[in-house]
Amino acid sequence: MPKSPALLDAAKRHLYPNYKPAPVVFARGSGCELFDVDGRRYLDLCAGVAVSAVGHAHPVLTKVIAEQAGRLLHASNYFYNEPNIELTTTLCERTGFARAFFCNSGAEANEALLKLARRHFFAKGETKRTRVVAFHNAFHGRTMGALSITGTPKYREGFGELTGVTHVAYGDLGETRAAMGKDVAAIIVEVVQGEGGVFPAPAGFLTGLRALADEHGALLLLDEVQTGIGRLGRFLGSDGTGVKADAVSLAKGLGGGVPIGAMLTTEALAGALPPGTHGSTFGGSPLACAAALAVIRILDDEKLIDGARTKGEALGKMLSTLVADRPAVCETARGEGLLRGLVMKPGFVARDVLAKTNEAGILLTAAGERVLRFTPPLVVTTGQLEEGVAVLRRVFTDLSPA
Ligand SMILES: *Cc1c(COP(=O)(O)O)cnc(C)c1O
Repeated sequence: MPKSPALLDAAKRHLYPNYKPAPVVFARGSGCELFDVDGRRYLDLCAGVAVSAVGHAHPVLTKVIAEQAGRLLHASNYFYNEPNIELTTTLCERTGFARAFFCNSGAEANEALLKLARRHFFAKGETKRTRVVAFHNAFHGRTMGALSITGTPKYREGFGELTGVTHVAYGDLGETRAAMGKDVAAIIVEVVQGEGGVFPAPAGFLTGLRALADEHGALLLLDEVQTGIGRLGRFLGSDGTGVKADAVSLAKGLGGGVPIGAMLTTEALAGALPPGTHGSTFGGSPLACAAALAVIRILDDEKLIDGARTKGEALGKMLSTLVADRPAVCETARGEGLLRGLVMKPGFVARDVLAKTNEAGILLTAAGERVLRFTPPLVVTTGQLEEGVAVLRRVFTDLSPA
């Protein structure tokens, strides 16, 4: 007897219906493969939205988590713990930032950035510097603060006033300049707009934002929740761009599936949030920090960050070929490293296409209205990427617009 129907039935009765999951109940995974409760195999090319960076059930990560759970799960921020100190040191060494604050998600890391910016100017006596410049189509999370900087109307609608933010066009330095003023505390931006549809920053955009922030005495904050920790083939997505932010947010891949978010800041901002101004009960737990340390060690040992670049380039070529071969369905492909988007022709709805790719055993996510997003585990093989694109090619053969 298959187990899925009864489980799906119970889920539909009692799960809060804010999501619309595919009718698949997962039981276990290994590397880039997932298996549902009835034993059906799926090829995971989404990694739970760029989270499972080292794949499922990686033996090293599994062992570290189990051992840490057997030693110490939680200690609180009334005390220090060893994995936390070690992770702080590692992240600062890798990125050149001076300070790390830990929380539990991307939205929380962005909340920390927003509070950091406001409190920094408050401490300097600039109490009117509270406005933030953010970008249309940006995604920064679902909490009220993170939602206020998120630039997609459908995510914001119905939640009342979300003030103190000016949204301008991503990539448009002129519009950004026009939005600046003495009341702007920070510009916050993604290195590649992920959720919004996989839009890499145009050449010179981040450098231009750095210059605008400096010119107006504002901070430049980078949301690297999706682009950080190797996804683009660099430790931070902003590495190699020559742009040094005042602070960045991280989450998603950092814990390899264990919830953890982080804010990294320069030393100049170390005084902005003194004791009592910000915190998190769970943030920086020994378990989450040990997991993140293991993820970073695996990325190094298996050269997965270089791999994200080379395999990402290979995936980019495969997708370009697919676009050329299925012009009735595909418009273009774009992205960097192992964050890639396949843009469907107008008339196609990415979420509807996902139902078909799920049925065909390939797991992807949607980004924006008509972009299929690839964020595979960084342990993916070129062969697995080829398998995924081949299945997609078959699915596209008999696909017509909605
Ligand atoms: C996913 C994401 C977030 C939100 O992270 P959560 O962990 O869901 O709160 C924020 N910013 C970016 C760029 C993201 O991709």
